[in-house]
Amino acid sequence: MDMNSIEAVVQATDPADWRDGDAWLAGGTVLFSYGSYAFGPEPLKRLLDLGSAGWTPVTVTEDGIELAATCTVAELYALPDSPEVAQRGWPALDLFRPCCDSFVASFKVWNMSTVGGNICTALPAGPMTSLCAALDGVATILGPGGTSRTIPVTDLVTGDGTTCLAPGELLRSIHLPASALASRVAFRRLSLSNLGRSGVLLIGRLDAGTPLVLTVTAATKRPVQLRFGHLPQAAALSAALDGAVPDDLYHDDVHGLPAWRKDMTYRLAEEIRAELAVPEGAPDLQMSGDFWPPRVPRRPQQEGV
Ligand SMILES: Cc1cc2nc3c(=O)[nH]c(=O)nc-3n(C[C@H](O)[C@H](O)[C@H](O)COP(=O)(O)OP(=O)(O)OC[C@H]3O[C@@H](n4cnc5c(N)ncnc54)[C@H](O)[C@@H]3O)c2cc1C
Repeated sequence: MDMNSIEAVVQATDPADWRDGDAWLAGGTVLFSYGSYAFGPEPLKRLLDLGSAGWTPVTVTEDGIELAATCTVAELYALPDSPEVAQRGWPALDLFRPCCDSFVASFKVWNMSTVGGNICTALPAGPMTSLCAALDGVATILGPGGTSRTIPVTDLVTGDGTTCLAPGELLRSIHLPASALASRVAFRRLSLSNLGRSGVLLIGRLDAGTPLVLTVTAATKRPVQLRFGHLPQAAALSAALDGAVPDDLYHDDVHGLPAWRKDMTYRLAEEIRAELAVPEGAPDLQMSGDFWPPRVPRRPQQEGV
């Protein structure tokens, strides 16, 4: 798509440089697809290019993983193989590749599009939102006045294509805490077609502090997270979904009707509950999600799980 309203492309990473008519440019796979008239009442005039930011894509510490907003899908996909991460043995690393695979990604999207660009685009089917929300990711946001604030990724995306970012605010990074990465996880995804965009994507987590954290994405217009003080029975899980997701929060587009998304949400949530209720080491259950077990080679300590 030609962006014929653009007057300048500026290398910038400081929100102080932002002015009306600007857009942050990350991988560009949305900006160059939608064109400059799709982001507000006025056409875009300048692109503030984050390409020269030089931010380290991934930083691993004992506290967890820090993903720069400019980390690409390809870099994220490679992460579980890096010795620095593999030695930590975090079970939730098993989510990274299924989430990357949840992109209906061309070579261009895979290699250019970024974690931050995906979250800020705020599509219900945004798999980087799914991953970061499910792992209690916390976003660091820089503001035009030199401000910095943090917010859970679950709250950053507020609806279909909407976020809580104010004009000029820049998503700098996402922190995935070690406590969440150390969780046992279960992943389910459904799409109406083989290579279709996600219609329903649920991730469950069992960790030491909270017995079950269930994150619903793709089915809903924004991420919905349910936290349980104990592993619920099926009826309690269903009742909790009733309370957390009103009917009008189910997304409606060509990738799935709200009624289907709702049915599948309940079904996949129950599969996740049942899977995580089985003690580690027991045989896998037969599941309907099309991305589990993940396409990730299992690390030696997980053989037999
Ligand atoms: C063939 C194809 C398939 C696709 N499949 C999917 C899919 O399955 N699921 C999905 O969610 N998307 C999909 N997309 C859309 C898109 O590719 C992704 O959402 C991608 O992750 C966007 O990232 P980007 O870095 O290219 O963003 P960009 O195009 O650079 O930016 C997107 C938006 O985010 C803003 N932005 C970018 N970075 C920041 C930042 N750090 N801080 C603040 N604002 C920022 C930009 O100003 C712009 O408004 C697809 C696109 C194509 C072309």
